[in-house]
Amino acid sequence: MSPTNAAALRDADRLKESQAGAAADSLVRLSPSRASDYKTCPQLFKYRAIDRLPEPADIYSTRGTMIHAVLEQLYLLDPAERTIQRARALMVQVWANLKADPEYASLELDSQEEAAWLEQADGLLINFFRVEDPTTISPHELEWWVEHQTEMTLLRGIIDRVEVMPDGEWVLSDYKTGRSPSETYALGSFFGLKFYALVCWRTFGKMPKLLRLLHLKEPEIITLVPTAQMLTGLEKQLDALAHAIVRAKEKDDFRPRMSHMCNYCPHKAICPAYEAEREVAAAAAL
Ligand code: SF4
Repeated sequence: MSPTNAAALRDADRLKESQAGAAADSLVRLSPSRASDYKTCPQLFKYRAIDRLPEPADIYSTRGTMIHAVLEQLYLLDPAERTIQRARALMVQVWANLKADPEYASLELDSQEEAAWLEQADGLLINFFRVEDPTTISPHELEWWVEHQTEMTLLRGIIDRVEVMPDGEWVLSDYKTGRSPSETYALGSFFGLKFYALVCWRTFGKMPKLLRLLHLKEPEIITLVPTAQMLTGLEKQLDALAHAIVRAKEKDDFRPRMSHMCNYCPHKAICPAYEAEREVAAAAAL
């Protein structure tokens, strides 16, 4: 299980999805993000997980993608080379690659907006070096694809970083760049890491010793020690969520749930919950 880059893993994700075939079609596929979507709004889950509607890139998710890629590449360097200067140079490269990718064309930043946005990203890198000394870390896995299949679900996703301590215990770390408030809003900030701890426990028989959330905006590191009770409780919640999704599919009943999260929703313009609002706006424009 050697470290690989995030883009390759995401490509592998797509490949695995296509190869999974009919046998896996009946499974409810859940990542922390998809589980969070359903809890936030079943209609949003449908748009993303079932209809697979395209979504334009936004500055928050793109910044998250860029910082994750920079930190992954930083940790592939020898420890002595993991400096802020190298991190900045990596960011220049990563941003040039992202800009050349048609997926990110919808960002449409003018030069001033781009400079301000890059300055914010640089601030996240500075904060990273404030809370962590990367020369002292020995990652075992970076951007690591994991999955666990149950009778009803396929739990899957990418862990930002895994360290194996000298005593053999595992520590999972997750970088938060202020990408989206949806997971925090719906399920709590440790939901993703607990989800991955559960997958590690069930797949490898190894319950991580420690979960670390690196909030790069604040900056701060928050930790949590997972327990069997905590993870079995989560497992039951995910089963209940999967049952709810299966029922919603059978009835084709994915109800919109309006909240302040609608302000971040890329599908608001077609959401049935906002039909009346659109009609009023159309009438006013006549
Ligand atoms: S606009 Fe709001 S209610 Fe509609 S799909 Fe998006 S999050 Fe759900």
